[in-house]
Amino acid sequence: MEHPENSIEYKGLTVNQGVEQPSIVNPYLKSFRKKRTRLFSVNEYVEGILKGDISMLSQAVTLVESVLPEHQVIAQDVIEKCLPYSGNSVRIGISGVPGAGKSTSIDSFGVHLLENYGGKLAVLAIDPSSEKTKGSILGDKTRMEKLSVHPNSFIRPSPSAGSLGGVARKTRESIILCEAAGYNNIIVETVGVGQSETACHSMVDYFLLIQLAGTGDELQGIKRGIMEIADGIVINKADGDNVEKANLAASHYRNALHLFPMPESGILPQVRCYSGFYGLGIDGVLSMIFDYIDKVKANGFFQYRRNEQSKYWMYESVNENLRNNFYYNTTVQSMLSEMSDKVLGGQITSFVAAKKLLDAYYSELRVNNSK
Ligand code: GDP
Repeated sequence: MEHPENSIEYKGLTVNQGVEQPSIVNPYLKSFRKKRTRLFSVNEYVEGILKGDISMLSQAVTLVESVLPEHQVIAQDVIEKCLPYSGNSVRIGISGVPGAGKSTSIDSFGVHLLENYGGKLAVLAIDPSSEKTKGSILGDKTRMEKLSVHPNSFIRPSPSAGSLGGVARKTRESIILCEAAGYNNIIVETVGVGQSETACHSMVDYFLLIQLAGTGDELQGIKRGIMEIADGIVINKADGDNVEKANLAASHYRNALHLFPMPESGILPQVRCYSGFYGLGIDGVLSMIFDYIDKVKANGFFQYRRNEQSKYWMYESVNENLRNNFYYNTTVQSMLSEMSDKVLGGQITSFVAAKKLLDAYYSELRVNNSK
């Protein structure tokens, strides 16, 4: 039916035909939009990685870090196919509190390593806190200016997903891909707070602790139990007026290390001073690391440690899978807050609450299995 408002006699308000408006978004900017991850086949990733193609390696690492199940399926296949080509590297963990000079040092160590020892270097990181800042606190290219433009380096910020276990697993899997791509030196940077040091230690052949002199920090490492897992300790910023203090701190550490039992490797950790910023004493630090590697390769500890780490990661993967399976279970999720309220309210004990949750989980599993 003809609408009265369309009649020419109609005197009320009419709505004009609109004119087409240009988009408020500059069309030029469209080309800058974030591209969706283009997926290749497993074989394409593997071939690219084995050829040392940085872009393919980088995209495969992105899949490893992705939380999407379809990415994970490809990533796991790629890792498995790369596994036979991995392992031929020296993996070095570097830890220190924020401000200790990790990125400055890795920049110096890395360039010195590539120029004097040759080969290729990948820098990865473990920083579970980067979830909060949505990104790249550690292993960031902008923090390693010289190394990041070196053709034989590959730098990757910390994966920013979830739990420490999850972040560490992704970093460990990325190590495999980097090794398959021919990176014969891997540095794993981690921040010297909390459990991430232990996670880093569980995937490297040498764990280096960066300390500072004169911060009253000397005893902290000892208190935190970190000295036990360090294979070497270095005092950074041994430059200018700080040289004397650094030497003094080094002798404190040497004395303290004698109080600990001999490490399993059979090699007493060394202590060195250096300046990452001014590039002083860098070769001393690198030769300390590679001397250790030569010794543990000769006495069998290198392989023993890697085997122990593989076992550890098998158990870790099982634990993580079970944990996720439990916490993602909808019945468990629906009961969790009620149970924790009851525990907090003193109505039931933690153990009873845990048992109720586990019972509900297992009985649902049984029902599902019998279907
Ligand atoms: P990170 O947080 O451990 O990665 O530490 P950075 O590498 O960002 O360094 C923290 C600060 O210490 C920066 O201002 C650096 O310039 C400074 N720094 C790092 N290494 C040295 C060094 O060898 N000597 C001196 N004097 N300063 C340094």
